[in-house]
Amino acid sequence: MKAVVVMAQCPKTHGLYGIRAQNERDGSWLMTWAFKLNSKTATSEGYDRSEISGIVNMSVDYPGCPYCGTIGWVQCGRCGILSCYEDGPNDDSVQFRCPRCGISSGVEVAESFDLSSVSF
Ligand SMILES: [Zn+2]
Ligand SMILES: [Zn+2]
Repeated sequence: MKAVVVMAQCPKTHGLYGIRAQNERDGSWLMTWAFKLNSKTATSEGYDRSEISGIVNMSVDYPGCPYCGTIGWVQCGRCGILSCYEDGPNDDSVQFRCPRCGISSGVEVAESFDLSSVSF
């Protein structure tokens, strides 16, 4: 079974964390775990080069962000980092400010992501 760690950043604390995702038999990814991380560890472990794309699901026991406990997440359309995001009202797109590059943009809440562009 292939598993990778992808990078995320908490917008409330600006803390970095890693999310462990495993490749399921059907080709989708299952996020199973999240843990605090610093950028040095991320770089030395190669987490900043992790690539996953396609359908991403959350395991039932996925603990959420290690800083704020948020389960949901969105991906910044510009720098590609994941960020905590609580499901908002049923809008198609929501206002979101990226903790890493600082842009505010509408975010599409979707089930499919291409995480291959994250770099630190
Ligand atoms: Zn958070
Ligand atoms: Zn960004």
